[in-house]
Amino acid sequence: MRVLAKIVRNQARNIANLILGRSVITPALGSMTLARSDLQLAEDLLKQPRDWNSREFLEEYQRAFAQFNESARAFAFMDGRVALNAVLYALELKPGDEIIVPGYTCVAVPNAVNFAGLRPVFADIELDTYGLDVAAVEARISTSTRAIVLHHLYGLICRDYEAILDLAQAKDLFVIEDCAHATGARFKGQRVGNYGHAAFYSSEQSKIFNTIRGGVAVANDDTLAARLGEFHAQVAEPPPEITERQLYNVILNYYLFRSAQKWWRGDLVELLYGRKRLSSISDDEKQGVQPEGYLRKMASPIARLGLNQISRLDELNAERRRTARQWDKWCEEHNYRKPLVVAESVPVFLRYPVMVEPERKSDTRWARKELGIELGVWFRSQLHPVQRQIAGCPNAEQAVLRCVNFPCLLAHE
Ligand SMILES: *Cc1c(COP(=O)(O)O)cnc(C)c1O
Repeated sequence: MRVLAKIVRNQARNIANLILGRSVITPALGSMTLARSDLQLAEDLLKQPRDWNSREFLEEYQRAFAQFNESARAFAFMDGRVALNAVLYALELKPGDEIIVPGYTCVAVPNAVNFAGLRPVFADIELDTYGLDVAAVEARISTSTRAIVLHHLYGLICRDYEAILDLAQAKDLFVIEDCAHATGARFKGQRVGNYGHAAFYSSEQSKIFNTIRGGVAVANDDTLAARLGEFHAQVAEPPPEITERQLYNVILNYYLFRSAQKWWRGDLVELLYGRKRLSSISDDEKQGVQPEGYLRKMASPIARLGLNQISRLDELNAERRRTARQWDKWCEEHNYRKPLVVAESVPVFLRYPVMVEPERKSDTRWARKELGIELGVWFRSQLHPVQRQIAGCPNAEQAVLRCVNFPCLLAHE
């Protein structure tokens, strides 16, 4: 019933807009890299479940990702957070070791640290790129600290990247790069994720590329790469019913986000396949409990989607940067501070973040009226999507109150 009520509401609004000669406002905050070829692939795979067992596509995808990312080795998992777990395993840490993580991130990050038997210690971010603030990191280092998880949030290369790498080297700490938002971004000519000891990427449906759920861990050091491979060999593939739902989710998301007729077809597929939807995070995980079947590698048919996705990534990221220039202009005209693009970096703008007045974040209808877009509100809490406050991170609190994000891939097929 709730679904029906939503559909009626959506379509009433769409029809009113059409009658008034205004454009129909549709969401563009996720899955915008799905193409007709991905839809076709998902439909074909659903018809051929016997092909799902072949491991060759998983290996091909891992090689292709490593090549795309200019990394020595890559290993694909069910989620980015599982790839983080693989990295933590590879670093051979002791129970209770401390890992510094941003106090403004996805709850999956501190959870992965906890599930590995380690202790997340939160450090504040800066408000130029929403990355870890090097001074805040330094203040959190203790005798138990072993690693720092830095992130390139919204696809922006973090302001204190080099300073944190230098600090880690001076203090003999590992650097893990959270590239969940930044696949394809560059710094000083190289892809991000290759400057620290290891990195992880996400192809969850709201990220830079899309296999509905998915993650990759990379390393350049031979020993670390071998340990990642060891972890990968130990974990199972997800059961076929999960893979099936993942493939249905491609169909759902294609029509919800990408189709030229998405303003009505999105609602139609929701009605047809909505029950197949695969959520990105379980209730257990929101409570901080490791769910069953958490540690999984990527299923082979999903790796075929991954291969298709990375073939268009650079081109789509260039389009995101072009849209970002449009939002730059909007910031200049409206006196808002533009996000910082650090020198010699090529960001990817998963979303374009801007700090606005808190009222403009709590009620985003102004963006529909003024800009004709659905505005993103990542993050509404310091540990998205869980409502939890982390003490001692005043900048993160400001970002929770004020940071909104503009979509950067707008075209439909
Ligand atoms: C999404 C996300 C992750 C985790 O990726 P999953 O593939 O969803 O596990 C990690 N860090 C950040 C900043 C994210 O947004």
